Amino acid sequence: MIMKHHQYLYILLGFILFSCNPGRNNNPEPFPEPEDGYPENIIFFIGDGMGPAHVTAAETVNNGLNITSLSTTGLMTTHAADRSVTESAASATAMTTGVKTNYKMLGVNPDGEILKNIFEYLHERGYATGLITTTFLQGATPAAFYAHAELRDMYEDISVQMAHSEVDVLIGGGSFWLNEREDGLNLIDTMTSRGYSYYEHINDVPLDESGKLLVVQAQYRLPGIEDDRGDYLQQALSRALSRLDKTRQPWFLMVENEHIDLRGHDNLQDEMLAEVVDLDLTVGNALSYAATNQKTLIVVAGDHETGGFSITGGNVFEGTVEGDFQGDNHTAVMVPVYADGPGASYFSGVYDNTDMFRKFTDLLKINAH
Ligand SMILES: [Zn+2]
Repeated sequence: MIMKHHQYLYILLGFILFSCNPGRNNNPEPFPEPEDGYPENIIFFIGDGMGPAHVTAAETVNNGLNITSLSTTGLMTTHAADRSVTESAASATAMTTGVKTNYKMLGVNPDGEILKNIFEYLHERGYATGLITTTFLQGATPAAFYAHAELRDMYEDISVQMAHSEVDVLIGGGSFWLNEREDGLNLIDTMTSRGYSYYEHINDVPLDESGKLLVVQAQYRLPGIEDDRGDYLQQALSRALSRLDKTRQPWFLMVENEHIDLRGHDNLQDEMLAEVVDLDLTVGNALSYAATNQKTLIVVAGDHETGGFSITGGNVFEGTVEGDFQGDNHTAVMVPVYADGPGASYFSGVYDNTDMFRKFTDLLKINAH
């Protein structure tokens, strides 16, 4: 194909404009004041790999979900800066920094420049923060709230950043990169000397204690529900809420169930749906908490879809689902977002994953644009 000169010019102009603006939108449309008020605290649930069919199928087999009872519903696009089908690092970076980055990059833009994330803004303003996950704490989703790395699997480096972060409550797995490190450092000791109380099991954490909390319950990931993970996620939520409340500061807590994604990769439908139901039970507990602390906003979102899962049969009246997986990796379909509580109205409609950052920061009155 022969291009005319002006076509070259447009391509060049487009390239220059794109290159000059790799960061946030400097002049976004201001959100109107939320009719449902501003939250003091936010609980952000991430169902890793949870697409619309995962929620539909879990609702069928479970005869209803807490997630779908939330007052507001939206849909979110998830593409990475360099491709349509994303993964958890690029997706979480979009949500925590408001900037699209490349596949597998964490807390940095496509040029590798560090992006300030929402927790870093919140710590400056005296917020307490917490992270709960069923995978290792250095996993891409939780790590996007405290770390910056050119690649998500730089676990030793990410662990050092975690050990020196200001996050108040950390509950997950990943002791291998904390105390079996190549450099011989013991980062659990580092964290206890920084004031964290440390436990190897969530049930050992006393409910009446206050202060910073580190629970590392597995060398790598925690097991799945089918392997007796039990009520870990619900216990982690109640322990985290208790700690965060005792700070007497406003707070932001992220809770991730990574195993929805893992079982989606494995194409294990029953196990995958059990993970959605486990996340949903935890959302139910958060709703009960929010009934007593009405300044709390609850948001539930997938970070991308996993498995190309679809529902091809079954009986909705009998609670059965015949599902099918298109493949064993992620897809680019929009993921559902649900919200309830003050500011929930911001999460209706169709938007991009980078908009999550602006919704959260606007609701917490942080000028981060
Ligand atoms: Zn995945």
